[in-house]
Amino acid sequence: MIKVCPKCGYQNDEDAIYCLQCLEDLKNVLPGEEVKINSTEFTGYNTNNMSPLGHSLQYEHYNDDVSIGAWIGISIALGIPIINIIVLIWILTSSSTNRTLKNYAIAQFILMCIGIVLTGLLLLIR
Ligand SMILES: [Zn+2]
Repeated sequence: MIKVCPKCGYQNDEDAIYCLQCLEDLKNVLPGEEVKINSTEFTGYNTNNMSPLGHSLQYEHYNDDVSIGAWIGISIALGIPIINIIVLIWILTSSSTNRTLKNYAIAQFILMCIGIVLTGLLLLIR
């Protein structure tokens, strides 16, 4: 017999007073039969517990991997005038690029805009 925590679902001992995982009060929880989890059921259990947001975040995390080669290519491209603007626009408009690259491109774009504004201001002051 075990006590399933009503808050987090952790399977505590039958004589447990508090949940070992989240310290929820288990004094009023009636002990029940232990749920035997085999490998296939465990996967289902995991998927059911996973929120759609959590699942998509994990997927995005996988997608956020940018290879070293890609970073080198982008760094070289961003060092070349005019080409860098084309590359930034391509990264920002392409739906296939991941969020890490997009955020990097946005950051570079903002820095570029600040640079242009500062240069313009300096020219105006002179
Ligand atoms: Zn708990």
